Amino acid sequence: MTKRFDLSGEVAVITGGGRGIGLACAEALGEAGAKLVLIEPQIAAAQAGVDALNEKGIEAEAAEGDVTDSARMTAIADQLASEGRAATILVNNAGIGEAGTALEDTTDAQWLRMMDVNLNGLFWCTRAFGSHMVKAKRGSIVNLGSMSGLIANRPQPQTPYNVSKAAVHHLTRSLAAEWGQHNVRVNAVAPTYIETPMVLSNPLNQDRIPLWLADTPMGRMGQAEEVANAVLFLASGGASLVTGAVLPVDGGYTCW
Ligand code: NDP
Repeated sequence: MTKRFDLSGEVAVITGGGRGIGLACAEALGEAGAKLVLIEPQIAAAQAGVDALNEKGIEAEAAEGDVTDSARMTAIADQLASEGRAATILVNNAGIGEAGTALEDTTDAQWLRMMDVNLNGLFWCTRAFGSHMVKAKRGSIVNLGSMSGLIANRPQPQTPYNVSKAAVHHLTRSLAAEWGQHNVRVNAVAPTYIETPMVLSNPLNQDRIPLWLADTPMGRMGQAEEVANAVLFLASGGASLVTGAVLPVDGGYTCW
């Protein structure tokens, strides 16, 4: 009998898989039996993720690539396919966050960079790897959205990030509708604040955390593994009828 969340025989590509939520997703998918490819702009960062996984007995390979480089994403996807191991799972995790700049002070470059990584990059990857899923008539794509695509955070202004994630959510729904006929499912998770370098490396966040927790019914931030568990569910056959979903993983933040 097949196990519900078994990913044996699947090839999972995780963008930004070298650390943080991406690495946790890689570990979860690898534990379930998927073959893993981690993509990072710096090969050393991808290799660091591979090394961390190897220490836990999980095999993975590193690939150098920036998601904003459409041609590179296509080249990686086509290379895997030519080797008979086209991606059957894509976790669009690579993303950047910036908070605290008022909209009136946001530069063209800041806005464009946010959209380039969080939206354009996700689109290039989805098209590159998803095209092979469409041909194979099977696949599962999980996008890293955010609760910031559902609500506006406080107290820090972060409109460009929020808009980029709302776009990711609607790309998820639109593409789920388009690719349902091809047996390619497209879902997203919408996490609350997760204790990764993205959040912890910003010293300004220390003063914000008490308000964030007060706004969260469960009264805490999340761990990368808690997001990875939801990604594993959506990526697996356990979610065979789930497509177009944006699953909050937020301790109830969006309930208030
Ligand atoms: P981290 O900053 O800890 O890790 C992000 C990883 O993505 C890094 O390894 C980074 O590499 C890589 N990356 C960044 N830009 C690119 C690029 N252009 N191409 C390829 N890889 C890239 O972030 P998190 O793990 O916290 O976040 C992962 C995802 O989850 C993001 O999409 C984020 O928006 C989302 N998310 C995070 C939340 C949080 O609270 N942490 C909450 C909700 C959503 P490098 O070191 O080179 O920058």
